[in-house]
Amino acid sequence: MTFTTKIASYANHFEIDQGLIGLLQKRMTDPDKVVMAPKDYFTVTQLVNPAQTFWDRTTGGVQKSPELRRKLAKGNRLQDVASIWFQKLPDFLVEGSKLDGALVGLRGVRGELDYKIGESIIELKTKDKLPLTTEEILMDFPHDLEQLLIYSALDPLNPDINYLVFMTNKMPYKFATFKVIIKDLNQIKNMIQERIKILKLAIEEKNPHLLGRCRYFGQTCQYEKETCTCNQMSPLDTSMFSKAIELKFDKEFNEKLEAAKAKSNQKEIDWFSKWEVLNPRLHYMDRILGETLEYDAPDYDKDAYAACLWSAIKKLNMDLNLIERKQIYTEKKEHRIKVGFHWLKVPHSGKNEYQTLPFIYKVSSASTISFANSPNDYHLAQLGVMCAAYGVSRGLIIAVHPKLNKLVRVFQVDYKNLKEMQKLIGGRLDGCEQAEKVQIPLQLDSCPEFINKNKNCPMTRTCHSEKGKGCIQGLYYPPKSIS
Ligand code: SF4
Repeated sequence: MTFTTKIASYANHFEIDQGLIGLLQKRMTDPDKVVMAPKDYFTVTQLVNPAQTFWDRTTGGVQKSPELRRKLAKGNRLQDVASIWFQKLPDFLVEGSKLDGALVGLRGVRGELDYKIGESIIELKTKDKLPLTTEEILMDFPHDLEQLLIYSALDPLNPDINYLVFMTNKMPYKFATFKVIIKDLNQIKNMIQERIKILKLAIEEKNPHLLGRCRYFGQTCQYEKETCTCNQMSPLDTSMFSKAIELKFDKEFNEKLEAAKAKSNQKEIDWFSKWEVLNPRLHYMDRILGETLEYDAPDYDKDAYAACLWSAIKKLNMDLNLIERKQIYTEKKEHRIKVGFHWLKVPHSGKNEYQTLPFIYKVSSASTISFANSPNDYHLAQLGVMCAAYGVSRGLIIAVHPKLNKLVRVFQVDYKNLKEMQKLIGGRLDGCEQAEKVQIPLQLDSCPEFINKNKNCPMTRTCHSEKGKGCIQGLYYPPKSIS
């Protein structure tokens, strides 16, 4: 029995929730009719460094140096650590929210903001050294500022006060927080549209001359020693900043952050996603090697389905209020598991007026109705990990099925022996931490074969360097052949 099937086996009862299905179906936009970003959209991080995006797209990419990969992985890890402190701030709303420009008339860009506190967007950046003045930001980190500005334009609420937070990447993790006040949103929207236009043109014509110098030129850009022409380019124009925004150090917010960190005793813990708990080598790959596995795209627009389902869930108006959210965060049992805050307050005719339930939402690849009529083990295990992390025994799986005429299914699932499941998961995480400490990935369970069917996982050789230890049955690379 794999770890996934073991966790799934704690689900002892499920039922289809027809009421919620009906409500969701009524509110769900047809994913085929939604004009999402086109396939060749850019992410926000690609837009803020167009020269590098150009070389990525036109050369197929150059591998980042191991040093840079480790640095990026460390940045991600610290981001997770800092999340704990952000969650302690009053008005903390959400972490990692997806945005698509297509929904606000800026088609062609997608992104994911770090945090929302109240209505403000927070962008966190880890650095070797903190910028102390606004001039330093404009000189050294204009791309970080641009990133925050683009999120403010993509957010349908267009918040006009946002924060750019820098954090040192070494203990004691000092902060420098800058308040960014939007004075002219149109300037930012124009910049986004212009950036998309010149980037597309440059890629089409294979000519980077309009894109300016890479923002990492002379620092960590992997193209510098290869093909790039950045030494002949000027830095990108940043004059828009003076017209569009006001930027200033925010002592009060900075002190709040320092206080939240102090309250947590600066304890450094690493976090695992639900998927990484089930597939710990993916966590190893990210944290130790700074690599990620690129999943093959299905033959439907998975992002469009996920966005429509998410939007229908939001339209249910079953969100928790701030006090209820805080209560749930406070009662979380396993702090090493990182899960998006997905909870619904579902009206109920029983003893209590509402059931407050965690949920996962999925775009399912099931192609027969019999598979769609019961939750699969991967979904049961992911919801199980979420329930164990929060110490609750009931949750929801909400799924849409592109191959079954957009069928929506909602399963209410009950789990037994919560304490035993929590112990099992806790032991799993201890094992992961140990394997990462000694850097022996083969101590960890392998992933399921289907996620690496094209053998494009960066760890394929390592994982198959011992017979029977990899995800692909029968594949074996003798250790000497590992390059
Ligand atoms: S090679 Fe297979 S087992 Fe190893 S990390 Fe990649 S997907 Fe997982």
